[in-house]
Amino acid sequence: MGGTEMTYIQQAFETNWIAPIGANVAAFEKQIEEFIGFGHVAALSSGTAALHLALIMLGVGKGDVVICQSLTFAASANPIIYQGGIPIFVDSEPVTWNICPDALEHAIRHCFNKGKRPKAIIIVHLYGMPARMDEILALCNRYDIPLIEDAAEALGSEYNGQKAGSFGAFGIFSFNGNKIITTSGGGALWSADRKLIEKTKFLAAQARDPAPYYEHSATGYNYGLSNICAGIGRGQMQVLETRIAQRRAIYDFYQKALQNLPGLSFQNEFAECFSNRWLTALSIDFQQSEISPQMLIAELESRNIESRHLWKPMHLQPVFKDALYFGGTVAEQLFQTGICLPSGSSLLPGDLERVRGAISNLFT
Ligand SMILES: *Cc1c(COP(=O)(O)O)cnc(C)c1O
Repeated sequence: MGGTEMTYIQQAFETNWIAPIGANVAAFEKQIEEFIGFGHVAALSSGTAALHLALIMLGVGKGDVVICQSLTFAASANPIIYQGGIPIFVDSEPVTWNICPDALEHAIRHCFNKGKRPKAIIIVHLYGMPARMDEILALCNRYDIPLIEDAAEALGSEYNGQKAGSFGAFGIFSFNGNKIITTSGGGALWSADRKLIEKTKFLAAQARDPAPYYEHSATGYNYGLSNICAGIGRGQMQVLETRIAQRRAIYDFYQKALQNLPGLSFQNEFAECFSNRWLTALSIDFQQSEISPQMLIAELESRNIESRHLWKPMHLQPVFKDALYFGGTVAEQLFQTGICLPSGSSLLPGDLERVRGAISNLFT
């Protein structure tokens, strides 16, 4: 926590706004809007809820195809299923680890050849690293398909100086406990279009028509963010820039400390990219290092240091076994060779040194 969160929670109690609306919700939304620089924001109960509402707003329904990056957390794709849609998964490219524009175009062409226009494309800025936006936006324009940016892990990341999450029809953010800032649980939906965000807020608050009694002409959801949680968010927004600087410093430490070990490669920021470096992730070439992620995770674990595998690609998940997939084996290779290192903002220099020591030890 940054320090001021309790003040805003206290205000919620003092004014008795213990509800999914209130002054903290409105102020938190405004802070995010100002941070992104333009457009409008709905504060919601989770990033998953934000993705679900984005698909609903784009009219995704039964039998509609939605193309989605395969290398991601399941929450990127699950809302397609909630809507009865059909996910098609696409491989990553090796620099950013995000959606491969060539494979994306193959997937789009396949859909058109089958006479089906994809209703949306969901891309992800994995671990905070911006995807190849120029190529992706060009495809969305050429084939006239709306883009949803899953920026759950990328609040504060930028592409050509523009904030991740503000390029498509919709951008989504998550404030779950593990993200760069947190409201314990929460999320947000961004759009350049005020009307779309107003409609989202209406749907997120049970779709109550303006009538003197409870009348509903649309199916609503209980997806609003609690005014208490939004209070945490207000405090967290004040330390977001600090958190980004901390995460980037952690990445710089690992990168410098480990760059000479054989077979390691990091997710790369190319010229247009600025990553919030939510997590420092790297892949290990087994041929060069004779070390697998399993070995490294076990070595760290033996010293009471937690590390993780990368997300297992969606096209390899049992729950999506019937889904179509386009691309090669980049995502799969990354899953087999990748590891996320301890990256919490509260890590101290001594902690980082301990992680470095454990990794170096395994390599020598
Ligand atoms: C965390 C996350 C989500 C879901 O956000 P929640 O707030 O946990 O629902 C979606 N996509 C990605 C890539 C995430 O990391």
